Amino acid sequence: MKFVSRDLDKLKTLLSSDDQVLVTTHIRPDPDAIGSVLAIREMIKQLGSEAHVILEDECPPRCGFLPGADEILTLSETKNTQRYKAVVIVDAGDRGRVGDVERLISTSAEIVNIDHHSSNEHFGTLNFVYPDTAACGELLYFLIKALSIELTQTLATNLYAGLVTDTGRFRHTNTTSRSLQVGAALIDAGADAAAITDHLYYDIAAQDIRSIGIILGSLELHGRGEVSTMLVKLDQSIEDPDHVVDFARAINGVEVAALLSEMKDGKIRVSMRSKARVDVSKIAESFGGGGHVRAAGFRMIGTLTEVRDKIVPVLLKAVKDSSA
Ligand code: AMP
Ligand code: MN
Ligand code: MN
Repeated sequence: MKFVSRDLDKLKTLLSSDDQVLVTTHIRPDPDAIGSVLAIREMIKQLGSEAHVILEDECPPRCGFLPGADEILTLSETKNTQRYKAVVIVDAGDRGRVGDVERLISTSAEIVNIDHHSSNEHFGTLNFVYPDTAACGELLYFLIKALSIELTQTLATNLYAGLVTDTGRFRHTNTTSRSLQVGAALIDAGADAAAITDHLYYDIAAQDIRSIGIILGSLELHGRGEVSTMLVKLDQSIEDPDHVVDFARAINGVEVAALLSEMKDGKIRVSMRSKARVDVSKIAESFGGGGHVRAAGFRMIGTLTEVRDKIVPVLLKAVKDSSA
């Protein structure tokens, strides 16, 4: 993978500067987001500077085993009124995705944007945006090499968590031979593949398994069965929506699956997955969200059924247009 050498020089200078560096990611962080902020924190340490990882939301329980996870601060925990002049934002397609962490960022800050979303808005003063990488974990592997940083076991573990999650355990279409090569290199560097996958996918709260049963029961097929939806009420919300949305997409004949989840703020979160043809990132962008070609999301005001009724025709049309 090729980087612009001037960008690498700038990155190295920034990450080794005397300024404390704020490292953050998107709200409702997933394992690629958490693994990546923790990896960047270690990279900055290795380069001789200090990093503060501050997120709007808490680290999800399934990521608690990742090395350094206990060093993550949430906004409400930090008494910080400091405004950072050096900031790294990772795994976020637009700046708004960092949520209220925005208030810790100085207006004159140098912002490094490290990301792999096809919808990325290049909002940084320095941008490392590579939509052809499956995960920020994959992208960071190459940055680590390019910056001559030592690939420790803890770095490898954090990067592997992102790679295994964002590739859907090496099943999605974003899984390239390069993703597998990076996975192999991370295992060689000490990542315990089986243990990481177990922590992330097979350590589920019993309550979540019960909720999964209810959510699966909410399945509806639309049109001639090319669009599927599932609805999640607030009291049925589960830690990892991938468990159910994967089933909604796996149904034969389905091209686009949407999981609609009630959130505490009254909005509905829409998680979309497509099988082969529809670019769900474009649909998400049209509703103010973003994501990847085969996995994207947005939020909308309304009830579960109102939002379903609003988006189903859009999804049916997108499927129709894609097969024209
Ligand atoms: P999810 O369906 O929540 O697993 O998200 C799928 C992909 O879409 C992830 O890469 C997210 O970062 C992205 N995404 C989800 N929701 C949003 C949103 N509201 N705005 C921008 N990107 C989103
Ligand atoms: Mn993410
Ligand atoms: Mn990601």
